[in-house]
Amino acid sequence: MLDADFFRRWMTATAASVDREAERLTALDSPIGDADHGTNMQRGFTAVRAALEKEAPDTPGAVLVLAGRRLISTVGGASGPLYGTLLRRTGKALGDAAEVSEEQLAEALRAGVDGVMTLGGAAPGDKTMVDALVPAVDALGDGLAAARAAAEEGAVATTPLLARKGRASYLGERSIGHQDPGATSSALLIAALAEAAAV
Ligand code: ADP
Ligand code: MG
Ligand code: MG
Repeated sequence: MLDADFFRRWMTATAASVDREAERLTALDSPIGDADHGTNMQRGFTAVRAALEKEAPDTPGAVLVLAGRRLISTVGGASGPLYGTLLRRTGKALGDAAEVSEEQLAEALRAGVDGVMTLGGAAPGDKTMVDALVPAVDALGDGLAAARAAAEEGAVATTPLLARKGRASYLGERSIGHQDPGATSSALLIAALAEAAAV
């Protein structure tokens, strides 16, 4: 079973990974965006880490709802409300249980990803974070390592796609040939889930 500590480790592992990869995320956002994705994610997850230390929420749902709220209030870019919705919705779906199963997490994350698609209007294949998140959720039934691999593959597979949502879509055909920054950070988020389980 997964407790609040597990979800805190997930968020702190994401913050650490975003710190390590911030330059790469911003570099990916340079040819098909406005070169701020690494900075946006770093600002957001630094705030998440601080809020979790200060408030110490004691259920899985409360950890994710707090994290989502902090992302929405600290990240100005498109990714803030989208990641914020992902975590808030996932947290709400987990309810107030002290521990949840991997199956419950998979179901809740599905609700979170649905929330992202409703808010942003993106479907799989539109070259967004959805292209890493949907395969990850689909693979979660086979375990966290499978979800991690699926998210990474999904992120890499955005390279040949034409962007249909977000800033990259303004470039039309010129968006082809570049990996989507948001799909890349989503793969980091899912990798951190596997890292949180590996302690
Ligand atoms: P901004 O584009 O406002 O500068 P970021 O650079 O932080 O925000 O985030 C860009 C990422 O957000 C994109 O790479 C993409 O994955 C994701 N994104 C943008 N718009 C959408 C959308 N409508 N639906 C899903 N994801 C989106
Ligand atoms: Mg950007
Ligand atoms: Mg921006």
